[in-house]
Amino acid sequence: MATDLEIARAATLQPITAIAEKAGIPEEALVPFGRHKAKIDLGFLRAQAEKPRGKLVLVTGINPTAAGEGKTTTTIGLADALNAIGTRTMICLREPSLGPCFGVKGGATGGGHAQVAPMEDINLHFTGDFHAITSANNLLSAMIDNHLYWGNGLGLDPRRVTWRRAMDMNDRNLRNMVLGLGGAAQGMPREDGFDITVASEVMAILCLARDLADLQERLGRIIVGQTRDGQSITARDLKADGAMAALLRDALSPNLVQTLEGSPALVHGGPFANIAHGCNSVMATTLGLSLADVVVTEAGFGADLGAEKFLDIKCPSAGLSPDLAVVVATVRALKMHGGVAKAALGTEDVAAVERGVVNLVRHVENMRKFGLPVVVALNKFTTDTAGEIDAVRHAMARIGAEAFLCTHWGDGAAGATELARAVRKLLDEGHAKFRPLYDSALPLADKLRTIAREIYHAAEVQIPPAIAARLKRFEEMGFGHVPVCVAKTPYSFSADPARLGAPEGHVLPVREVRLSAGAGFVVAVCGDIMTMPGLPRRPAAETIGLDAEGRIEGLF
Ligand code: ADP
Ligand code: MG
Repeated sequence: MATDLEIARAATLQPITAIAEKAGIPEEALVPFGRHKAKIDLGFLRAQAEKPRGKLVLVTGINPTAAGEGKTTTTIGLADALNAIGTRTMICLREPSLGPCFGVKGGATGGGHAQVAPMEDINLHFTGDFHAITSANNLLSAMIDNHLYWGNGLGLDPRRVTWRRAMDMNDRNLRNMVLGLGGAAQGMPREDGFDITVASEVMAILCLARDLADLQERLGRIIVGQTRDGQSITARDLKADGAMAALLRDALSPNLVQTLEGSPALVHGGPFANIAHGCNSVMATTLGLSLADVVVTEAGFGADLGAEKFLDIKCPSAGLSPDLAVVVATVRALKMHGGVAKAALGTEDVAAVERGVVNLVRHVENMRKFGLPVVVALNKFTTDTAGEIDAVRHAMARIGAEAFLCTHWGDGAAGATELARAVRKLLDEGHAKFRPLYDSALPLADKLRTIAREIYHAAEVQIPPAIAARLKRFEEMGFGHVPVCVAKTPYSFSADPARLGAPEGHVLPVREVRLSAGAGFVVAVCGDIMTMPGLPRRPAAETIGLDAEGRIEGLF
């Protein structure tokens, strides 16, 4: 069977100018990076701001398992199929991070016959956005340490610096360190550490910014640490916001690429879905909506994290009103939610599907709480049996939802036609009455309780007094109106990754809360959250290389 890379290489890509023309982007608004990638000029985005808006479709999924779900693949397959039935459609995806690319997960450009291309470029360096974000993040770090070195006029407590350095690599050795060693001339010794670039607040800011001025404003609000008496020091206090914005100017422009079937795709930004909101940039989504009749976009992880954040953080902040949610599921993953081990997934087990489908049912019902019509995309794997597929269909029929069997991974657009027709029909009928889950005026702790009760079906949120006091403090600082971004395991509705299916009545323990003042949300850490992942025993990097012609091999 051909690998993703072989399929991608066999496709003939169109010049990016042709893709732009198809998307309605004039040539003078293109900043090409070679023949198959381009950034879109921000002046064009400004001119587009008043254009009528297309419909926004969110692709989300069940709680991920080791069996794989295929949200990115389905986003691409659905968009290709919508274009194939004559609906002008654009895709908005996140940019892949180098960390997972060289680790376990591989790249993030879809798979099979549903890919965005050129996949080697998109997965490695692309147009340099992540490097710009890394640089902006580390400029702020350098200015913090420099401020401490030159007398610390702001009185920043070196023990209370919360801003960390960043690098786009999985490197556990960089998690915690002491720097500035070596005597008076080498800086002020203090503890620090690195986060992966996608976990940097600069990444979240770039993805939520609505223009360059908003970008700089948000960068200025970043809190880098506290004085000894607890006063926050910001990037603006350090006069770092202007230079950071300058480093990020070009990175704020969305990147245009194409799918293997020639659909235009904007691939831009890529914040973590745990300590940040996990979806592509507001700039790209609003541009797509000004150009196309339909924009299909993906949110990371399962719908309890990714979709909830898309709907409660990104959409309200950007004034977006989504029109439909597609929940992706696979028979294999549902069997794992029904208690089957990964090694046994090849054997038919209808009863396990029936047990595990409760996970899908809850996600569908959750999406309805946001006022969205929902369809289910059942991403077919070759091992799925007719009995197992029927079990999913029946479970969906019982809650008035429809599941469409999709084979875009193997067949491209032709494999998602039925799904595309259903999506098109629901969009035309206009069922959406989008509303975020909670009112922005609600106290922060109550926002968290609402998410835990309505989305996770938790009985209780455990907020220790010190954390409750910190939330109160954030409210006093003027950040009571912001949404809450939950960082918890993606594998379960609960905070325990082993509780698959649809657990009820569990307790959500809050371990820590952080204010991302620039991004504009409060992070509630509910579990062990890794902001600098490590590589596995056998990293994907071991099998990546160049062939005799200098082409990249081993990416997936
Ligand atoms: P997600 O966005 O949910 O993380 P992806 O779309 O990136 O998932 O898919 C994860 C992996 O699974 C990719 O390598 C993709 O090629 C593979 N995959 C997706 N759908 C199928 C399928 N139907 N059959 C086989 N492999 C698939
Ligand atoms: Mg994905």
